[in-house]
Amino acid sequence: MSLKSRKALVTGSTSGIGLACARALAAEGVDVCLNGFGSPAEIESVRSAIEAEFKVRCIYNGADMSKPAQIAAMVDDVETAFGALDILINNAGIQFVSPVEDFPPEKWDQIIAINLSSAFHTIRAATPGMKARKWGRIINTASAHSLVASPYKSAYVAAKHGIAGLTKTIGLELATFGVTVNCISPGYVWTPLVERQIPDTMKTRNMTREEVIEKVLLTAQPTKQFVTVEQVAAAAIFLCSDAASQITGANISMDGGWTAA
Ligand code: NAD
Repeated sequence: MSLKSRKALVTGSTSGIGLACARALAAEGVDVCLNGFGSPAEIESVRSAIEAEFKVRCIYNGADMSKPAQIAAMVDDVETAFGALDILINNAGIQFVSPVEDFPPEKWDQIIAINLSSAFHTIRAATPGMKARKWGRIINTASAHSLVASPYKSAYVAAKHGIAGLTKTIGLELATFGVTVNCISPGYVWTPLVERQIPDTMKTRNMTREEVIEKVLLTAQPTKQFVTVEQVAAAAIFLCSDAASQITGANISMDGGWTAA
């Protein structure tokens, strides 16, 4: 069965992986709600481009994923606007890097709220409808850091390990309701955010672009290549398909071999 006319919410979808997932869903005929920060003009242009290109409905909700009441209201608004919420991609996330003794407690709280607790709040609100309709797909963007750690990323690694545990738990809870719950764990994904770091690193380390990519950014990634946002989105589309109906509670690595080492 195709995904056409299914209804989706992708958190953190104004850029990067989330936007690629929203576009890939729209390409399958899914109505999509975007969420995330950005300039209103840019968000509107992304939103209207999706509607024009894929002939689906695309709406936007600016809920702050660190605010439980806003998250619950967003899920409610999507169900009202679309009549259902069938596919939930929990993707919003931020990073902060610091030795633990200098790690600001408010940054810890913010990362746990956005990268982990927000998924609990969306799932909690979306589950009754999915159970009642006996179909649903919940996909969490985790990370290689849901399986292994790196120093100085205490909050991020804790949140990502947490999201892998949440995925397993809800997968078990919803197993008999036609609702699958999985996470995708990318390694280093090529996003504008990564691209912007390259010129500065070239200067400070006196390296070529290729050296920065291989020796700085991709040290942990055996393939020495970035994952692309389109590859993550394609995995999400597969997880939404009927072929993936028996995949639940899984953590799908897409990290060029990082976590095999
Ligand atoms: P990104 O910065 O391009 O996108 C993050 C999105 O989250 C944006 O739309 C942003 O507006 C939104 N966001 C941030 N704080 C928010 C808040 N409080 N409320 C609502 N939206 C908020 O980053 P990305 O690389 O696309 O990351 C997306 C997800 O993928 C994150 O969960 C990240 O941890 C994960 N991830 C990224 C990589 C990578 O290398 N880029 C690797 C593994 C996992």
